[in-house]
Amino acid sequence: MTTHPKYVFVTGGVSSSLGKGIIAASLAKLLQAQGYRTTIQKLDPYINIDPGTLNPYEHGECYVTDDGAETDLDLGHYERFLNVPTSQANNVTTGRIYQSVIDKERRGEFLGKTVQVIPHITDEIKHRIQILGNSGDYDIVITEIGGTVGDIESLPYIEAVRQLQWDLGEHNAIVIHLTLVPYLSAAGELKTKPTQHSVKTLMESGVQADILVCRTEHELSDGIKTKLARFCNVEKESVIQSIDASTIYDVPNLMLDEGLDKVVLKKLDLSSGTPDLARWNEFLKRHKNPKSEVTVGLIGKYVELQDSYKSILEAFIHAGAENEVKVKVESIHSEYLSKENVEEKLSHLDGILVAPGFGERGIEGKIDAVRYVRENNIPFLGICLGMQMAVIEYARNILGLRDANSTEMDEQTSHPVIALMESQKNVVNKGGTMRLGSWDCELTDNSISLKSYGQSQIKERHRHRFEFNNDYKEQIEAAGLKATGLNPETGLVEIIELPTHNWFVGVQYHPEYKSTVANPHPLFVSFVAAALAYKTNK
Ligand code: GLN
Repeated sequence: MTTHPKYVFVTGGVSSSLGKGIIAASLAKLLQAQGYRTTIQKLDPYINIDPGTLNPYEHGECYVTDDGAETDLDLGHYERFLNVPTSQANNVTTGRIYQSVIDKERRGEFLGKTVQVIPHITDEIKHRIQILGNSGDYDIVITEIGGTVGDIESLPYIEAVRQLQWDLGEHNAIVIHLTLVPYLSAAGELKTKPTQHSVKTLMESGVQADILVCRTEHELSDGIKTKLARFCNVEKESVIQSIDASTIYDVPNLMLDEGLDKVVLKKLDLSSGTPDLARWNEFLKRHKNPKSEVTVGLIGKYVELQDSYKSILEAFIHAGAENEVKVKVESIHSEYLSKENVEEKLSHLDGILVAPGFGERGIEGKIDAVRYVRENNIPFLGICLGMQMAVIEYARNILGLRDANSTEMDEQTSHPVIALMESQKNVVNKGGTMRLGSWDCELTDNSISLKSYGQSQIKERHRHRFEFNNDYKEQIEAAGLKATGLNPETGLVEIIELPTHNWFVGVQYHPEYKSTVANPHPLFVSFVAAALAYKTNK
């Protein structure tokens, strides 16, 4: 335990997509495993207030926290690695910084001063960086700065880091710079020059990197490490190799082997020990030594992008390890599914997940898929829009309500089985206006959900505007599709199940956000077990 919080900043150079989030999360894991209360924060230099309004093609999945913040997907990695919930304070964007400074200006709080990037924007950034540290809940705050050093957008953040290092004093705030050491196959050599340049760019802003983490496809020789240390003003033990790994979950151990945690703790003047990674390594062992394999279909409309359904893919990895099963996820584009080809495209699968989503594109394919899995007893998990599609499919094909729909897709439908809540009807702004964050849910007896969770009161995270329309509940339940999870205050239907089916569960919330290495999500665990049982009995 420390008396006052220590700060670690993670900047990136040379190229984007080097995996700052994974390095930050891996370091945090190693520090946490030595008893330091650690959290991670992401500062995003874009002008959107949050990623909630961003298309998944732009920025991957939007991750939702318990307190209803719509955040960067890196926060998902932080939670999956640390098993500690994050909050709005863990993700700050330039948009949010400017919004609060401008709001203050409108309230006259700057007393007639000219409002400027320095000091007003940088002060706001410094304030946001220290909110987590000042909460008293953490010994170490790791702050990841989005973007690449040298970007115009990042400048105020780098300046805030420079000032904070002075404000906080020696051993209280350090900078890890993540760079790329490319391999030139024609020359047969690893090249250090891009790293030298990016360290220099950082120095132009008055910030000296304390530690270099170098992404590389090949081992860094001793000579390369010496060269990097010499030209970049760091000690040789502070040049850390980050070689490509087959799974992100290997990175904490790779960083441990390189001694990243030791150098960080030394520079922060904190004692270091041996991290207790027993639970983590147990997970890795199971993940890498599966006893069997299942193939699960992920039906969505952003399937060509890995990042769009990040948390779902990770939840399958956790649930697979728990079951000692390798879960192969086959992405299936809902737009290309139809009544005519569902059998051909889906019959080989052991389970099907219909993904969350917004808007009309691809929904008829999702409905055809749900019908196929329902009629063929294939394990089914519908998440958010996927659950809504299951309700629509049932209403259309079992209740005979031919044009049943969600009012999101068809405002004029005569059977709005999925509809807007009263409280959503007058909302005009798009950002931050959905049913967001953690909500209570009560599970009914004899349900798959109750069996999976092992408790009747749960809390799950939401991100949607439309709901199961309770005007149809009696009719739908009488026909066999049961509401097995309800919000105790509002009576909103959060889970539907089909008891006559093998394993058919639709959830209005997003279970994937809460799946972590230490706590694989019970519904995913149960779904993977059902897929395995289905495959075995095929
Ligand atoms: N579009 C649906 C709604 O707003 C579902 C959202 C989702 O899948 N996250 O209710």
